[in-house]
Amino acid sequence: MSRVYNFAAGPAAMPLEVLEEAQGELLDYKGLGYSVLEMSHRSAAFQEIIDDAEATLRRLLKIPDDYHVLFLQGGATLQFSAVPLNLMRTRHAGYVVSGNWSRNAWKEAARFGRADVLASGEESGFSRTPELDVLPDQTLDYVYVCQNETVYGTMRRGVPETGSVPVVSDVSSCFLSLPLNVSRYGLIYAGAQKNGGPAGVTVVIVRDDLVGDGPALADVTPQYLGYRLQCDKGSMYNTPNTFGIYLCGKVFRWIERTGGLEAMEQRNWAKVNLLYDYLDQSSLFEGTVEPASRSISNVCFRTGDPKLDAAFVEGAAERGIVNIKGHRLVGGMRASCYNAVSEEAVRALVAYMRDFESAYA
Ligand code: PMP
Repeated sequence: MSRVYNFAAGPAAMPLEVLEEAQGELLDYKGLGYSVLEMSHRSAAFQEIIDDAEATLRRLLKIPDDYHVLFLQGGATLQFSAVPLNLMRTRHAGYVVSGNWSRNAWKEAARFGRADVLASGEESGFSRTPELDVLPDQTLDYVYVCQNETVYGTMRRGVPETGSVPVVSDVSSCFLSLPLNVSRYGLIYAGAQKNGGPAGVTVVIVRDDLVGDGPALADVTPQYLGYRLQCDKGSMYNTPNTFGIYLCGKVFRWIERTGGLEAMEQRNWAKVNLLYDYLDQSSLFEGTVEPASRSISNVCFRTGDPKLDAAFVEGAAERGIVNIKGHRLVGGMRASCYNAVSEEAVRALVAYMRDFESAYA
C-alpha cells in the first residue's frame, strides 16, 4: 500500500484507521451478513448508526439540548438556499462577505429577500476577515458569516457581536478543527468533506426557536429543505446518505478517541504554524493572508511567479505531496491541513519548500 501526503481542500484526507475499520466491516456489518451500503435506512441497525453519530457529535461540540442536529444532502451549497428560506421571516438579513463562499451565499439569499452586505473583505483582496464596525440593525432576521474561507485561507476568530440577532455561520472548512461555542450561534452548518467525513453529508446544527413551526417562506420552500420537517423526521424525510453518515460517525469517534477538539486544535495549530513560520522567513514564498486572519486549515501561499508555482506543484508530486495547487480563483498553492493530515506530512512539505527555495532563489 502506498499512501501519499494529501493536502486536498475537500474531499480531503480521512483518518486511515477509519478507512480500515470501514473496510473491515464492508462485506458484513456486525454479523448482519450485509454491508451498510445495502442496509435500509429504516432498520434498527441504521438508526443506531445515526443516533451514535449524533450523540458523539453532541459530546464533541457540547451542543446544548435546545439545538437540533441534522444530517442532510445537497452540500453546503444547498444551505445557501435553505438558510434564507427557513429564517428570513421579515425577508431581511445581513451578510458579511469574506470570500467567494460567503459571496455565493449572499447572492443566493438576495433571490429570496433583502440581503444587505454588512461588511466586505473585497477591498483587501480577501486577505483578512472583515469585521462589523457597528451593531447591526436589530430587526434583521439573521447575520450570516463564513467562519473559514477555504479558497482564501482566512478564518474568523470567534463570533461577531450582533446584539440579539442570531448568527448563522458556514463552518465547513474549520468544522471539528477546533472547539466551537455553539450557543453563540443560531445555526451552523458544514459540508462534511473536510474534517467530518466524506462528501455528500451536510451537518446542520440549529436552535429550536429558529426552526419554529416551519420555514419562513413556507409556500416556496421544497419540503426537503424545511428544517422543521427534517427535525421531526430525524433527518430521514427521505433516504439519507446512509454510508456517508456511517463514516461521519466513525470520524467523530476517532476525534473523540484521539483527544477531542481541544487536542485537535493544538495539533492543527502546531501543524499549520510550521508552514506559517516558514513562510514568514522565506524570501521566495509568501503567505497571502494577514497573520490575525490565518486559517487553522487552509494555508495559502505563492511565489508570485505562476510558472514557478506550477513547477513547485509538479515537483511536489514527485515527493508524494499532492493536491497543493491553489483554487483556480486565486492561483498559487494551498495546503489544507485538516485533522487527518499528519504533522509528518506537513514537515515533508516544509522540507520540500526549503529545498525548492535553495534551488530557485
Ligand atoms: N462553504 C465552504 C466554506 C466551502 O469550503 C465549500 C466547498 N468546499 C462550500 C461552502 C460548498 O460546499 P459544497 O460543495 O459541499 O456544496
